[in-house]
Amino acid sequence: MIDHLPHPRGIAADELRRHNLSTVLEAIHLEGAVSRADLTARTGLNRSTIRGLLVELIDLGLIVEDSVTTKTSPGRPSSVARARPTGAIALAVELEVDYTVVSTVGLGGHIFDTARASNPSPDAPPGTIVTLLSDLAAPLLKALPANSVLIGAGVAAAGLVRRSDGFLTVSPNRGWSDAPLGEMIAEGLGIGDVSVSNEADVSVLAESRRGAARDHRNVIYVAGEVGLGLGVVVDGKPMTGAAGYAGEAGHTVLNPNGRPCRCGSTGCWETEVGEDAFARLTGIEWQGRRQEMIDELLRRAHLGDADVFAAFREIGRWLGIGIGNLVNIFNPDLIVFGGFYHPLFPFLEQAINDTASTVALSAPWSTCRICPSELGLDARLIGAAELVFTELIADPAAMIARSRRH
Ligand SMILES: [Zn+2]
Repeated sequence: MIDHLPHPRGIAADELRRHNLSTVLEAIHLEGAVSRADLTARTGLNRSTIRGLLVELIDLGLIVEDSVTTKTSPGRPSSVARARPTGAIALAVELEVDYTVVSTVGLGGHIFDTARASNPSPDAPPGTIVTLLSDLAAPLLKALPANSVLIGAGVAAAGLVRRSDGFLTVSPNRGWSDAPLGEMIAEGLGIGDVSVSNEADVSVLAESRRGAARDHRNVIYVAGEVGLGLGVVVDGKPMTGAAGYAGEAGHTVLNPNGRPCRCGSTGCWETEVGEDAFARLTGIEWQGRRQEMIDELLRRAHLGDADVFAAFREIGRWLGIGIGNLVNIFNPDLIVFGGFYHPLFPFLEQAINDTASTVALSAPWSTCRICPSELGLDARLIGAAELVFTELIADPAAMIARSRRH
């Protein structure tokens, strides 16, 4: 299928200008400060075009420009463009089973403030959590500097989320189903632009922009949550599928004669590599207290516990089988292990590599590397903010106009 037909001349010029504006804003957002000379070199645009784009971004309140004297040209000041954090603020939200976190994040990645609270119970209904979230967010928004422009909220949630409107189809580990989460949060917070996305999708965005996958265009993020989910970037673009449900690799069947899965099927990948598999093979009960259990696994591993090492080998082998298959399908250049796989990665790496190298074809495997997440648990909150900034970068003028109207 062809994306779209060529545009008439006038529209093409507009589109080109918007594309250039996005490229320049993205560079400034990710690096905080970029000189005009750098922008010219990076974009291949001429100096007067860059100057015009910077003026537009200054007018939108998104950047400031100042003159600094550089070492290479002493005495001759060159302009440096910097992100203006108060010019576009995202409310980043992380909805976990046992806690809720919210942060105010400015353009350029500046964190103004963060608040966190335990949920009343792991199965508290969506309405209760949205009220908790609103109570957490209100003082943060009030404390923002005068003239701050709030552009939207980004939400990382576990479960199957429809990207178009943030409708949560199901979140099995907290017993939620068919919840119009995006709508509820927009209403609760009084914010027009709310983007809700699955944790793995949000995390791969964070790692691609500010973490381990910064210089990679074909990335798979393996999220160890209760089960296993994937965030996938193909040729620099997030792969969400038709509605946003892509990446549920934890429910691909790898062991048809294996164990029943909580999804109703049998032998799903996550029955061999998820929390339950660690509990089954080590005798350590997870029961929702994930951090304590990871600490216990690591403690026993450092003591040389043979059962724990056998479990790591077995789980690493099953991870390797799935990873080898993914390498054959997607030809990624980087696979990032996050969630609870992140702290356990040093113990799983060898077995994953050993097995994946026999499952994957040698050509795609030879150009693929596996590594632990760089951002760890922060990936979700950073990614939630990036959901909003991605929308801003795609069309800065439109989003700022919407935010000012609101
Ligand atoms: Zn399943």
